[in-house]
Amino acid sequence: MSVDTAVMIAGAGPAGLLLAGDLAAAGVACSVVERRATESNLTRAFAVHARTLELLDARGLADELVATGSPVYSLRLFDRVRIDLSSLPTRFPFVLITPQYHTENLLEQRARRLGAELIRGATVVGVRQDVDGVDVDVTTEDGAVSTRRCAYLVGADGVHSTVRRALGVAFPGHSAVQSVMLADVRLRTAPPEVLLVDAVAAGFAFIVPFGDGWYRVVAWDRRRQLPDDAPVELEEVREITRLALGTDFGMYDARWLSRFHSDERQIDRHRVGRVFLAGDAAHVH
Ligand SMILES: Cc1cc2nc3c(=O)[nH]c(=O)nc-3n(C[C@H](O)[C@H](O)[C@H](O)COP(=O)(O)OP(=O)(O)OC[C@H]3O[C@@H](n4cnc5c(N)ncnc54)[C@H](O)[C@@H]3O)c2cc1C
Repeated sequence: MSVDTAVMIAGAGPAGLLLAGDLAAAGVACSVVERRATESNLTRAFAVHARTLELLDARGLADELVATGSPVYSLRLFDRVRIDLSSLPTRFPFVLITPQYHTENLLEQRARRLGAELIRGATVVGVRQDVDGVDVDVTTEDGAVSTRRCAYLVGADGVHSTVRRALGVAFPGHSAVQSVMLADVRLRTAPPEVLLVDAVAAGFAFIVPFGDGWYRVVAWDRRRQLPDDAPVELEEVREITRLALGTDFGMYDARWLSRFHSDERQIDRHRVGRVFLAGDAAHVH
């Protein structure tokens, strides 16, 4: 049976988009299917390390990404440890602070420019494979289900991967930290360090600037361990920040508040027949 495309990729996060660009650059026809109908405006990741920048540089993308953010050459952790990154043997001796959507936008533009197809508003719901190919069931927002056939499928569909579940691949590991709060806020007073983190017995707080007037606060209060779906009040974040950092810097106007837990998990094989797993679908920490 003929295939619709050589490679299908489930998920247009950083892993899926990078792979799509690399396959297209190598002349392999590929198609990315992404559940979200619109471009990403997520600010999940904010720290891009030197090695990641080197990998982006190999694809001609690093300088453009660096221009979107703030380089941090030295970190002060818990008021005691100073980490000097400026002497690292790399063109990028720093941590770059930039929202994840900038990275995804650059990777998406590259993948499209090189000829990869990106289908938004389409969710992978079923996977079957035989010796010659993979049938992938996809639903669109109007509820229609269609089946596309490819020679290979890559599940880059994140931590709750549908593809991983369809393969029956286990995701062993454990939850490392519960009830971590995230707040994207404005501050009345700028912190003295670009990247500020400290801890007390009750918890920790961590503040980084996005460079456009908004700040990301990551805060954890040992005394209030709640499930992920429990709403976050800005006052909770303020209180633990005051305890950990001595002040809440007058934080206000939270545009995003959420609570999550951090898992450490890894699959024991990245390939089952013609189907591969990549990115957070394969490992998280
Ligand atoms: C709060 C937070 C802070 C973080 N901070 C950092 C940081 O500072 N630095 C860092 O390096 N990393 C950080 N990370 C981790 C980083 O965000 C992830 O490792 C990264 O996004 C993983 O990329 P991915 O492409 O594998 O998966 P994802 O980014 O999760 O992308 C998966 C994509 O698949 C789509 N999808 C899901 N299911 C389907 C389906 N069935 N069909 C089609 N599409 C589907 C989703 O919509 C999504 O677009 C952070 C994560 C979190 C949660």
